[in-house]
Amino acid sequence: MTDLISLVVPFYNEAEAIPYFCATLLPALEAIAGTDWEIICVDDGSTDTTLLQLVALSQADPRFRVIEFSRNFGKEAALTAGIDAARGAAVIPIDADLQDPPELIAQMLAAWRAGAEVVLARRTDRASDGMLKRKTAAWFYRLHNHMSHTKIPENVGDFRLMDRVVVNALKQLPERQRFMKGLFAWVGFRTVTIDYARPPRAAGATKFSGFALWNFALEGFTSFSTAPLKIWTYLGALTALGTVLYALYIVIYTVVFGNKVPGYASLFVAITFFGSVQLISIGLLGEYIGRIYVETKQRPSYLIRKTHGRFDGT
Ligand code: UDP
Ligand code: MG
Repeated sequence: MTDLISLVVPFYNEAEAIPYFCATLLPALEAIAGTDWEIICVDDGSTDTTLLQLVALSQADPRFRVIEFSRNFGKEAALTAGIDAARGAAVIPIDADLQDPPELIAQMLAAWRAGAEVVLARRTDRASDGMLKRKTAAWFYRLHNHMSHTKIPENVGDFRLMDRVVVNALKQLPERQRFMKGLFAWVGFRTVTIDYARPPRAAGATKFSGFALWNFALEGFTSFSTAPLKIWTYLGALTALGTVLYALYIVIYTVVFGNKVPGYASLFVAITFFGSVQLISIGLLGEYIGRIYVETKQRPSYLIRKTHGRFDGT
């Protein structure tokens, strides 16, 4: 009996990386016996020759299937589309830049055959990422896992194996703004972890700037925790108490010593402080309301222009 395994690969301007990707991936797959493969390539609105190369691949090798987005929808949408289209008994999202080593797939399959429903690949060595990216990532996980009931495993990316039951569970989640790491963690299931050292990019440059990562982290917090909304109530109560105490102090001071200096400074400090607390909390409310707004529009998370390769039930 041969199982069909689906690889889901998001591509955004990866023209330089594709030759390396194929040269490493295909031998790694051939070395694994007893499995059929489908490689679902999602072209996330690339503006270079990525799509041309992918279509050529799908024409030469029926294992390659290509989904062509109408524009750049982002990696999360690309993964969602690939997972939606996957037909395999297990699904493995993998980056196109070889930072997720295909050699690990054999180990993942072994763990899956031994009964795991999710096999995570954990990076033990992120030396290929800069110091700042590593530190901010560590802070993100610590803060997120403190605030949210859904614990996201640290140093685990999207590279993982998911059994069909897990994939079906994921496909049932209706939200449009998809923070995949969080959704993966939310569904749960029997999980096994494999360690690996994360290599540098094979070619090309990273698609995530510092600001994109910041927005991504914010998305993670607000998608999986309402703690940022709730802390303001407590902080507000605390600062209100502080104000009452301070006001009492001023009254008593004035009664005892008289009003020598008009309190410009203290007034100014108090006004700006409370002003800023209010602005921050309004901003936070805005984050959540924005999310509600986006979800209520019920727009799809991606649009497909065309598919290439076998998509007609074969
Ligand atoms: N990617 C994508 N859409 C985007 C940005 C990235 O499909 O808008 C893909 C990209 O082609 C790659 C994967 O997501 O296959 C990971 O991107 P990258 O290597 O730039 O991220 P990093 O490893 O630096 O976190
Ligand atoms: Mg990368």
